[in-house]
Amino acid sequence: MCGVVGISGVENAAQQAFLAMYALQHRGQEAGGIVAFDGEDGRLHKGSGLVSEIFDPESLKGLRGNTAIGHVRYSTAGGSDPANIQPITARYRLGELALAHNGNLTNQRALRTSLVEDGAIFSSSSDSETLVHLMAKSRAKTVDDQVMDALSHLVGAFSMALVVRGKLYAARDPRGFRPLILGRKGNGHVVVSETCALDILGATYLRDLEPGEVVRIESNEVHEIGRLDPAPQPAPCIFELVYFARPDSSLWGESVDRARRAFGRQLAKENPISADAVIAVPDSANSAALGYAEESGIPFELGLLRNHYVGRTFIKPEQKDRDFGARMKYNPVRDVLAGKRVVVVDDSLVRGTTSRSLVRMLKSVGSTEVHFRIGSPPVRFPCFYGIDMPTKGELIGSTLEVHEIEKQLGVDSLGYLSLEGMVSAVGQAGPYCTACFSGRYPAPLVDVEEGLASEDGPAL
Ligand code: AMP
Repeated sequence: MCGVVGISGVENAAQQAFLAMYALQHRGQEAGGIVAFDGEDGRLHKGSGLVSEIFDPESLKGLRGNTAIGHVRYSTAGGSDPANIQPITARYRLGELALAHNGNLTNQRALRTSLVEDGAIFSSSSDSETLVHLMAKSRAKTVDDQVMDALSHLVGAFSMALVVRGKLYAARDPRGFRPLILGRKGNGHVVVSETCALDILGATYLRDLEPGEVVRIESNEVHEIGRLDPAPQPAPCIFELVYFARPDSSLWGESVDRARRAFGRQLAKENPISADAVIAVPDSANSAALGYAEESGIPFELGLLRNHYVGRTFIKPEQKDRDFGARMKYNPVRDVLAGKRVVVVDDSLVRGTTSRSLVRMLKSVGSTEVHFRIGSPPVRFPCFYGIDMPTKGELIGSTLEVHEIEKQLGVDSLGYLSLEGMVSAVGQAGPYCTACFSGRYPAPLVDVEEGLASEDGPAL
């Protein structure tokens, strides 16, 4: 998963992109970069690590101009290859081109194979690079038409910011899997993955870019240049609301905090239990745990503290015991937990690694009962649209039944939110993509169907 920023018509655009990327850091911590354009002339700085590690005042000073795009990249299987760090830049026959992409294409292998057979040379394994080749190959006369032509070949999830010859373009795929928000900053415009990035910029929210909408932002005006295939129904990703987005953002017209509280309340209705305290697995489950506490009447307590300064710490071999990772990240508040029957709310259960360690942690400080409640249904299927998930066989919910998971985790009880309960708790912008829970994939999995990719999960 990733975060995307585009700035147009704002002085020191790179500085603004840098700030927005700070706010979007939760969407990707592996790497990042900014390309700034002074007229049609682009300058790029990118690297591995957190935004604060990649940029310093010197590197930002070199990125001059009023247009910029930025990208933060989530850790994925092929993630450490520096060639995959975005924005991607290229020079083609009409000039310079830069691209920042959030989402995953489901036909990238098919496209790549046919482009390579036609003589294209790829410099990365990133699916986003296909768009660069499609732009270069397009015979359309204007840049606008080339952008539309290139985008029309893509299947799957893409929210993109693109600069061609110094002009900013933004696009969302026809199903609108990933968010992209349009805002105003002074006389200029910004596009960002989440509204929390507007706040840090002091920008005002204009609207969500619509599914399939493609715009060019130039001379402080937003021009719609076209719509991609209007046939499919929108399918915004519900996992953004469950886990990925920040609770201070609004997505699909829905406050993320409110949505998570609604999940928590519904979870409490579906899975009641008698207990002394409700605690969250911080930070992503805080809102859902508050919702559970409100509905159940059981007091919400701060039972686990999360260390926010844990980076990519070197773990020595003797520290590689099964709970060390969780102990680095979470610490129990003993007085809150000792002698108590505790409901632990997490937003999702993926491999079960975190919860297994947390149960042992809570029992070791004297909790008498540990009841796990999950603010989403079992994750049973891989995501092909950009959420980094393990393969199907590694998903605990795809291989085991609830009573077997209870045993594996060592919990006194486990309860999930139902799929119907989750969808009905939000609903406004639906129907949502629920593929990771339901196995219903709204956009065709072209590479899987053509035998070019595994149905157990995407090769990211
Ligand atoms: P696990 O320990 O493998 O069951 O993962 C569940 C925990 O990871 C939960 O606390 C979630 O907040 C978090 N989580 C859920 N989905 C993801 C994801 N795609 N990438 C990283 N963490 C995740």
